[in-house]
Amino acid sequence: MLGVEHLTVRYGSQVALEDATVRFEAGSFSAIIGPNGAGKSTLLKTLVGLLPDHQGAVRLDSGHSAQSCVAYVPQQQTLDWAFPVTVWDVTMMGRTGRLGWLRWPGRRDRTIVEEALRETGVYDLRHRHIGALSGGQRQRVLLARMLARRGHLLLLDEPLTGVDATTQEQLMALLRAQADAGRAVVMVTHDLEQARRWCDHLVLINRRIVADGTPEQVYTPHNIEATFSSSHLGHTHAEA
Ligand code: ADP
Ligand code: MG
Repeated sequence: MLGVEHLTVRYGSQVALEDATVRFEAGSFSAIIGPNGAGKSTLLKTLVGLLPDHQGAVRLDSGHSAQSCVAYVPQQQTLDWAFPVTVWDVTMMGRTGRLGWLRWPGRRDRTIVEEALRETGVYDLRHRHIGALSGGQRQRVLLARMLARRGHLLLLDEPLTGVDATTQEQLMALLRAQADAGRAVVMVTHDLEQARRWCDHLVLINRRIVADGTPEQVYTPHNIEATFSSSHLGHTHAEA
């Protein structure tokens, strides 16, 4: 449904991803796992069309354009939380577009936003300024905005970072339910154990795809070692 074939991405002379081929299916909850600098965010950004400069193919089989069916949650720290908007406003951006009021929201938009806020447990906070939220509440709002897009493909970059354990489990259950409802859910995470419990598809990555399959197929000592041992990192290039 969504995937890349022989994808290579470079930043200047540095190769962030090399010859990566992987598919993400509707109805599947996939976890992308690997060490810092492994190319996880690069893979997600390529899938959503944010990195047009790459070699290889990005496949989207649904017949829709990426913009209309993909909902993407970037790593939390990349967002400006001082921006003077409320929880409701941010979630409504899932309907109207990120860069402002591309169109005036209608009743259906308001209904969808309300549902998304209730599903993620932040409806009672809807009038609150986003700067006044805890890390867990912020992450719920980002998920609400994502759900409000009503996309078929949900891509999330480390959505559980800085989130308490209870919220993490709730969010994983919510994402599992989205996959069970027929969406393709793809999440970058550091938590192998959690991914094994909730996801049906694991992709281990370290500049290349190290392993790709069901948790039973992928979660082996050999694969974990190959993914996380520093000798496999692209350390031929000096890191800042
Ligand atoms: P991950 O998300 O797995 O931590 P990234 O995809 O963010 O890894 O980055 C992969 C590699 O590419 C890293 O070495 C990172 O430093 C480098 N990189 C990422 N983004 C840029 C960029 N905009 N410019 C230059 N190098 C980058
Ligand atoms: Mg990243």
